[in-house]
This record gives sequence, structure tokens and C-alpha cells, in this order.
Amino acid sequence: MKINSLFYEEFKDDILKCTLCPHQCILYPGKTGICRVRQNVKGEMYSLNYGDVTSMALDPMEKKPLFHFHPGEKILSLGTWGCNLKCPFCQNYEIAHMKPEYQKKIYPSAIPSLIDNYGVRGVAYTYSEPIVWYEFVLDSSRQVKYANPDNYNVLVTNGFINEKPLRLMLQYIDAMNIDLKVYNDKNYMKLLKGGLEPVKNTIKIAYEEGIHIEVTTLVVPKVNDNLDELEEEFSWLANISKDIPLHLSRYFPAYKYNESPTDINFLERTYELAKKYLNFVYLGNILSSTYENTYCPDCGTLLIQRKGYDIKIENLNENGECKNCGRKICIV
Ligand code: SF4
Repeated sequence: MKINSLFYEEFKDDILKCTLCPHQCILYPGKTGICRVRQNVKGEMYSLNYGDVTSMALDPMEKKPLFHFHPGEKILSLGTWGCNLKCPFCQNYEIAHMKPEYQKKIYPSAIPSLIDNYGVRGVAYTYSEPIVWYEFVLDSSRQVKYANPDNYNVLVTNGFINEKPLRLMLQYIDAMNIDLKVYNDKNYMKLLKGGLEPVKNTIKIAYEEGIHIEVTTLVVPKVNDNLDELEEEFSWLANISKDIPLHLSRYFPAYKYNESPTDINFLERTYELAKKYLNFVYLGNILSSTYENTYCPDCGTLLIQRKGYDIKIENLNENGECKNCGRKICIV
């Protein structure tokens, strides 16, 4: 489904500049941008994937991953096609970098009754990149909030977006999981065709706007398995808030990248390093629940026990405080 895009400007005659993400693609008539889902049609910019749903499922919140946002709840997860980065190890490449045959057309006005029918309160825009699904996500998240202010919207995103569209969208967003893929601007650009500073900016702005944020770093051999760089990342995040949950995930070969999966010992060392800076660090894609549990940073009491998607809230009171020492825990 095609609709006019919200963020672009005239570059020259019928040539347009897309201003949605930092690529700022210059598009001649008929051409699409790096994301493949924005096109210059006779001097007007269109979003090509509005309402195209390629994946839809009822997921555990922890799968996003969000560990400190409505733990144990289910969330309706929607994805489309297209992405503005080019990670060679993309874990969702079938929809991010190809156009799947199967697409369901869904209008934003249908989303509130869809979540009601599923008996859930929230929608996650996930699987591929919600930034390049901008107009649909904006309309849908607005409808979800208008239908009931207690409903919530979640973005699972690479964070590579310009500030103006980000701020507009955040009005309707409650939580985000933001990928911070490599703490090195050159490698962000060279290996992933993105950039570090815009992603850091997204994290900072979302935090300042009071959005619940969690950060994910997929630890990929020969891309970001550099402890000095990772330490810089942890220290930078801790300067925003030591309470931002960080997910360090194990990589497995996918798409165009064939390196062996991340070494578990290295992942554990990375975890120990991150714990020197941050209060809530988790390891993902490994078979060990020890690294998935939430402990009180002050007294060490087990607060939330996780075994896969089996969640037990153990020692948190209704005010979100540790029952043992009273420390306030950042859980929404
Ligand atoms: S959203 Fe797409 S078309 Fe627009 S600047 Fe980014 S990659 Fe280019």
C-alpha cells in the first residue's frame, strides 16, 4: 500500500531528499532509497509498505527483549519489510532485505480491536525496522493510545532515525528496545552502513523523554568483540543511567555472515565487564537462566526468575521495590 511520506524535501526540480533517517537519500523520480520502501513517484515521496504486515504473532514481552516492562505479559507483534541498515549478520533478513510473498493488509484503525480480540494491551513494532514503516507505526500507535490510554506501544529498533521524526513518534511510544550494534563509528558505517552518533542520540532522547528503554548488543565475532570498545559503550550507557537494562546476545551465523557463534566464555567475560558499570545486564540466546534473572543491585535478592519465557516475580512489592531492602527497581 502506498501513501505519502511525512519527511522529505525538494532537492532540485523533481529530485527529492528523504529526511526520515540520517542516510538522507537523494532520490531521482522512480528511484527508491537504501531502505527500499520509500520511493520518489513523479516528484512526490511515498512510503511503499504502509499497512503491509509480513509477520504477526502474540509474543512474550521477554522475546522483544524487554525484561523490565510488563514482565510476563504477552504483546501483539507486527513487522513489515525493509530496513535502513545492511548488517551482514541480519537475523531477520527474509523480511528486512527481501520482499516476502505473503503480506497481510491491515489498516491502523483495525489495530485496537485486534489487540482487544487477542486479550492484550500492547503492540510491538518489531521483526524488521519500524523506522522505515514510519507512517503506519505513527498512525497505528496513535490509534492504540486513543482507544485506551492504558494501552501501550513498543518499538524494537535500530535507532537510526533523525531527531524530528523521532520526537514526533515518541509521543505515542511507551517502551523501546534499541540496538547498539558496535561502539565504533567507522565500523558502524563500514560494516552495517549506519552510524553510531545517531543511535546514541536516539537512546539519549528517548531516555530524556521518559520512554522506558532497554538496549541490546548482539556480540558478533570480528564486528564488535573488542572489550575496550564494549567497555566504552557500558560506561557511556551508565552515564545516562546505570539502571538501563542491557541485553548482550549471542550471535549465530545468518544471512551473509558465517563466523562461528559467539564464544560463551567471551560472552561471560563481557557480562562481568558490563556489570561493573550497569545494574541490570542479561545474556541472551544462551541456555542458562542464571544470566536472565533480575537481582536487586543493592542486596542481591532474586527479584524475577526467568526460565526461557517462564517468568516468576518473586520479591518485588506492588510499588516496584525490592521486598528485602526497599530499593526502587526500574520495572514498569
Ligand atoms: S528512510 Fe529510507 S529513503 Fe529515507 S533516508 Fe533512510 S534509507 Fe533513505
